[in-house]
Amino acid sequence: MKYIILIGDGMADFSLDELGGKTVLQKANTPNMDYMTRNGLAGLAINVPEGLPPGSDVANMSVMGYDPDVYYSGRAPLEAASMGIPLEKNDVAFRCNLITIDDGNIADHSAGHITSEEARELMETIDRELGTDELRFYPGISYRHLLVASNDLGAKADCTPPHDVIGGEMMDHMPKGEGSDVLCRLIEESMPILENHSVNEKRIKEGKSPANAIWFWGQGYAPSFRTFDELYGLTGSVISAVDLIKGLGIYAGLDIIDVPGATGYLDTNYVGKAEYAMASLNERDIVVVHVEAPDEAGHMGDLKAKLQAIEDFDEKVVGTVLRAAKEDDEDCMIVVLPDHPTPIVLRTHTSDPVPFLIYSTLENEVDSVEAFDEDSMKEGSLGVVRGCDIVQMLIDKAKQA
Ligand SMILES: [Zn+2]
Repeated sequence: MKYIILIGDGMADFSLDELGGKTVLQKANTPNMDYMTRNGLAGLAINVPEGLPPGSDVANMSVMGYDPDVYYSGRAPLEAASMGIPLEKNDVAFRCNLITIDDGNIADHSAGHITSEEARELMETIDRELGTDELRFYPGISYRHLLVASNDLGAKADCTPPHDVIGGEMMDHMPKGEGSDVLCRLIEESMPILENHSVNEKRIKEGKSPANAIWFWGQGYAPSFRTFDELYGLTGSVISAVDLIKGLGIYAGLDIIDVPGATGYLDTNYVGKAEYAMASLNERDIVVVHVEAPDEAGHMGDLKAKLQAIEDFDEKVVGTVLRAAKEDDEDCMIVVLPDHPTPIVLRTHTSDPVPFLIYSTLENEVDSVEAFDEDSMKEGSLGVVRGCDIVQMLIDKAKQA
């Protein structure tokens, strides 16, 4: 048996007046997901345990078969893994954003989506001026960088994600609590260094937002994962354009497969992801395919883009995988689900349970659910389960079959 998990990031939503009370999933034309629902089993998955933030890191950890209550240690350690930065014992990884401060307010959490080339120059200057053996800065992609601090520094500080406080006063949202003094000092000292940097002088001249401060959040220690093989006795791989998801895969001991043209955005190479996924199963037991586009559309509050992203996901990823699975010599079990809802009206994630389906090419246990959406799946025979239990559920079903 081969296993395939297809994740449409943020697909789930609320019912919308402008859709006559339908959700985006109900409105979107999704013949492949609906087919698999009609010919498979449906349920709702809780991917974000109570008390944890509804981030993609937590939710996808669940989908990949890891209980976030046991394994989640923060966002930045996952990003560190995907960037190839090893964390020693007592090392704390922080996400270090390049942000724009305007008149004392947090104007932009992304410094105008600064290019990686510009950002690298700035972060190298920051590391030269502020870095020490105990405080190491690493450039990443666009505005997303890392600080690794030794000796537990700032592990317990209360840090605020800058995208949650856009427009807010910087001083109100600075790191607080144990160990925050060093973090605050670094942020304050970064400002004159960045303000006068040639990269920012050029950006200002071009009418772009300057990256005139650094900002820390999402910190944590390296999580102590058991590998996927240890937990489930399966080999596998992960396909995603997103660092967090790759980082989860690395800690889980799964192979990371890069697909040309995978962007994490609406223009991603959907078909390529599906084709690489099916090819990966020649040598492995399971593949996890993560598609970011519906979440991006949700964050933009763009209904049309979200409908398009979901229809593209259904046609090009789910459809391609379904056709290939049916033709495959080996039997396949396929799961389709969002990690969490990203409702258009909220433009951010929620912790609500998400619809999921299980479809098998082998023999199809079927329940009465006919369509893949938030409401219909409530009637599914699988009921409400913890997302982190789904992988084991598949393995058990394969054994029974
Ligand atoms: Zn997500």
